[in-house]
Amino acid sequence: MNTPNLTRRHFLAAASVGTLAAVSNRTPAYAAAQPAKPAILGGPPVRTRPFSSWPIWDQADEESIISILRSGNWFRGRGKVVDEFETQYARMMDAKACMGTVNGTNALLTALHVLGIGIGDEVLVPPYTFVATVSVVLMSNALPVFVDVDPRTFQMDPAKIEEKITEHTRAILPVHILGTMADMDRINAIGKKHTLKVIEDACQAHLAEWKGKKAGSLGDLGCFSFQNSKNLPSGEGGAIIGNDTALLDKCHSFTNCGRSHGSVKGRGFAFLGTNRRMTQYQAAILMGQMKRIEKDAEIRNANARYLTSRIEKIPGITPQKAYQGQTLGAYHLYAFRYDPEQFGRVSRDKFLSALRAEGIPCSSGYRPLNKEGIIEDTLTSRNFQKAFSAERLENYRRQNNCPVNDKLCTEAVWLPQWMLLGPKADMDDIADAIQKIYDNRQILA
Ligand SMILES: *Cc1c(COP(=O)(O)O)cnc(C)c1O
Repeated sequence: MNTPNLTRRHFLAAASVGTLAAVSNRTPAYAAAQPAKPAILGGPPVRTRPFSSWPIWDQADEESIISILRSGNWFRGRGKVVDEFETQYARMMDAKACMGTVNGTNALLTALHVLGIGIGDEVLVPPYTFVATVSVVLMSNALPVFVDVDPRTFQMDPAKIEEKITEHTRAILPVHILGTMADMDRINAIGKKHTLKVIEDACQAHLAEWKGKKAGSLGDLGCFSFQNSKNLPSGEGGAIIGNDTALLDKCHSFTNCGRSHGSVKGRGFAFLGTNRRMTQYQAAILMGQMKRIEKDAEIRNANARYLTSRIEKIPGITPQKAYQGQTLGAYHLYAFRYDPEQFGRVSRDKFLSALRAEGIPCSSGYRPLNKEGIIEDTLTSRNFQKAFSAERLENYRRQNNCPVNDKLCTEAVWLPQWMLLGPKADMDDIADAIQKIYDNRQILA
C-alpha cells in the first residue's frame, strides 16, 4: 500500500464531492441528491437478501431418482429414460435427432470426431469462451485458430473469419456465448462458401433462437452442456443435436463402444468407439428440469430486457448486445462492459468489490484463452511436434493474437443466470446498486 498516494486520492475525492455539493446548491432540484454511503465504505447495502438459488428441483424429481435407484437399471443399456430424454430434447430443440452424453466437453469431442476433424486440421474458434471449446480442438490434435471478437456482442466477429481460413481449415466452432447467439447467417454462409463444417457450441444457449430456430440446430451439429450451473442442469451431462440422422447414429455408435446404431451397421463393433454414455440418473433429472426451462427462459428474457433498459442509461455501462437475427436469448450470464473512465477511474476490480458489498454477486469473467499456457504446452508436446511442421507452428504463434478480446476481458462484468429468475424488484436492486456506485465514483476512486 502506498500511503501518501492514498492520502492524496482521498483528498481529491473529498475535494470533488465538495465541488458536486457546490453545483447542487445552485440547482435546487438536485439539492437532496447526496448519494447514500457505499456499503464497501461501511454504508448500508442496497440488498441483504439472497437472489434465487440454483439448481431448483421438486418432490417429483426426488421420486424419479429413487425409482431409478430401486429399479437397478442405472445405465442406459438397461433403461429407457435416456431414450426418452433424447426424443423430448430433440423435439424441444426442433432438431431431427439428439444424443445424450456424459458432459458438454465430450459432446464437443464427439462432434469433432464424427465429422472427421483430427491431426493437422485447423478449427476456427472465438477466444472469448470456456476453456473446453479450445481444449477439445487441441485434444483432437488440431489447431484452434482464434477469430477475434466483436466487442458489442462478445461473439466471434464474422467479419474476421475469412482472413483466418487456410488450406488446413476444416470447421468453424462458433460459441453462443453467455447464451446470446453468434451471427449464424454469416457463419453458415462462410462455412458453405469454403466447405467447412459448422459445429455450434450451444453449451450456454439452451432455447436461444436465431430467426425462430433453436441454437444448436443451425449448423452441422450442436453441442450442449448440462453441468450444474447451466440453464438445464443435471450436475454433469451433455447432448449433441442435428438434422443429419446418419451423423447422429455415428455419435451414438462412437459413444457406445462402437456398437451398431441405426444406419451404423455391423456385427460386433461397427465403428471404433469409446464410452461416453449418459446415465439414467442424468436423464431423469433432465426430464424434470425440462418442465421448467421454457418458463424460466421467458422470465430471464423479461428481466434481462428490463435490467438493460435501466442500466444502459448509466454512463460507462454497456450491456452485451444481440445481433438482429436473435429472436430469443438464453441469458446463461447477463453481461455488460464497464468503462472505468466514466466511473471516475474506479477500476473494474474495485467496482466488482463495491457491487458485491451492495449484495450483488458478480464476476469479471473470462481471461484471454489464446494467451493461456496450455496452448504453448500443447504446441511443444510430442503429438503436436509430430503432427505439425515447425514452420506451421511458428505461423500459428505469429497470428495468434486478439487485441479486441484482450480489451473485452478487462471490461466485462457478469451476473449469473439465476439472478434473473426472481421478481422485477431484484433487477431494480441490481440497477440501484450500480447507480449507487456511479453516484459515489468520486469517493471510491
Ligand atoms: C460448460 C461449457 C462447456 C463444457 O461443458 P461441460 O459439461 O462442463 O463439459 C463447453 N463450452 C462452453 C461454452 C461451456 O460453457
